[in-house]
Amino acid sequence: MHTSNPSTHLVLAYYTFTPIKDPIAEVKLHKQFLKDKDFTCRIYVSEAGINGQSSGTVQDATAYMEWMHGREEFKNIRFKIHSHNEQAFPRQTIKYKQKLVAIDEKVDMSKTATHLSPKKWKEMLGNKEKVLLDVRNDYEWKIGRFEGATLPPCETFREFAEYADQLKETSDPKTTPVMMYCTGGIRCELYSAILKEKGFEEVYQLDGGVIGYGLEEGNDHWLGKLFVFDDRLSVPISNEGSAPIIGACLHCNCPSDAYYNCADMDCNTLFICCPSCLKEFQGCCCSRCQEAPRRRPYHETTVHKPFRRAHTYKSLCLSPNSQ
Ligand SMILES: [Zn+2]
Ligand SMILES: [Zn+2]
Repeated sequence: MHTSNPSTHLVLAYYTFTPIKDPIAEVKLHKQFLKDKDFTCRIYVSEAGINGQSSGTVQDATAYMEWMHGREEFKNIRFKIHSHNEQAFPRQTIKYKQKLVAIDEKVDMSKTATHLSPKKWKEMLGNKEKVLLDVRNDYEWKIGRFEGATLPPCETFREFAEYADQLKETSDPKTTPVMMYCTGGIRCELYSAILKEKGFEEVYQLDGGVIGYGLEEGNDHWLGKLFVFDDRLSVPISNEGSAPIIGACLHCNCPSDAYYNCADMDCNTLFICCPSCLKEFQGCCCSRCQEAPRRRPYHETTVHKPFRRAHTYKSLCLSPNSQ
């Protein structure tokens, strides 16, 4: 369990919308600062702000947070911090991006919803009259979510706008409070604006997302685990108490909430798997992939990291027909 991990590293999640005049220069500045640090990350910078997920040794992650907080444009940025026992990303990735959240429409950011602190959010979860929306992906939803939440059936921002139109038919936009959450909060900044544009008057978003909620309020009203976009893949939202398992093993359907990516590098499917099926299928999503030519080696104790490229393995498993 995570509680027994020596916390040698910190995993950080953070974002802020603040005008950045020269995002390319900011990327360079970041690279320069992190060059000699024991620090891995996926950081995106745009004219509108920064969105980062990082991990570092306690010392280097702390130095990074101090550096950021010491700068005028980032002095209010909030880092959500998990402890971990190793780096959580394969490398340092710091890039300019035109849009911090992949959406295909322009959003009026002034229409963003009311931010609720985790404490207020928890109180409001008790209200009967509400719509509770999970605006993450279905694979995230499968292993964890708030009790009573709805997953809008949409993969794109445009589809979400259509969903909002449908929601208006069943829920009065003038009187129905809509509560919305995502992993770290950034997605809601944009998705909530759509609901407001569509006429919903009471829209709330969970400040700091599920990560922030777990850190402040623990597992209350939460089911399962939280999918994260790093090597951990799924984490408990809090080390205090526990949450019921809601996922199921792809192979045997037993309760399970650990994600893996298929050991066949040409498949790479994300799937939920129990330890015994993982062993039986040698880390693969199906018996066909078990015969595939390019497979990451399976180790019972150290399961391969997700989405690593072939060249990071000294030896690859070769299927009988390719030898
Ligand atoms: Zn199984
Ligand atoms: Zn596969």
